[in-house]
Amino acid sequence: ETLKPVYKRILLKLSGEALMGDDAFGINRAVLQRMVEEIKSVVDLGVEIGIVVGGGNIFRGVALGATGMDRATGDYMGMLATVMNAMALQDCCRNNGVEARVQSALHIEQVAEPYIRGKALRHLRLGRVVIFAAGTGNPFMTTDTTAALRGAEIGADVVLKATKVDGIYTNDPKKDPTATMYDEITFDHALRSNLKVMDATAFALCREQGLPIKVFNINKKGALKRVLLGEKEGTLVHC
Ligand code: UDP
Repeated sequence: ETLKPVYKRILLKLSGEALMGDDAFGINRAVLQRMVEEIKSVVDLGVEIGIVVGGGNIFRGVALGATGMDRATGDYMGMLATVMNAMALQDCCRNNGVEARVQSALHIEQVAEPYIRGKALRHLRLGRVVIFAAGTGNPFMTTDTTAALRGAEIGADVVLKATKVDGIYTNDPKKDPTATMYDEITFDHALRSNLKVMDATAFALCREQGLPIKVFNINKKGALKRVLLGEKEGTLVHC
């Protein structure tokens, strides 16, 4: 029997921390391999995948900004960090038989294709995973915002935000044992209840474009595939 995915094209947001595992810094090879196996399991369903990868495991502009470095300079360094993660992800995809292309918002042509929307769409149609590196290419922004932007640009059916938690809760479950997780919630409800889904810019863009966001736990084995098969997993934020 063939399993039919509920989304045809997705934008997966992987934070830098997701690649770090329990390490204090950098890219954990075993974690990277596991991520790619999760990704491969949905590529095999015929799902078209764009990925935005963060850089927080290597560099965070705001952190250095706070120590007196010029914020924009720190942010460009953060964007370069995402390029390294994207290259590692591409390499691991290829080792697992998954065709992948990195497209960078900053021009580093010896290393990655420049971001060209039309080319990205062509890669996607051909079943290649497209990894969007260097964020939006602009300082004072985040990779969450990049995920919303690229998600809207490629006409993704959903932005999948991979996190360490299972979904969005009524309250912080670490502080409030009675907190429960939402299966779904509207943008307006999330906003009114001050629930943190993505940063404000990313949230506003998704809301305006009617682009739903699914928050789910990437550390749970098989979770990504369950999301694609429409099984109960994570929290969906919708209009
Ligand atoms: N960044 C940026 N513009 C962007 C995306 C990212 O300036 O469009 C910088 C910013 O300094 C950020 C860093 O890159 O701190 C890494 O991205 P982010 O913190 O979003 O990564 P994550 O938390 O997902 O690992």
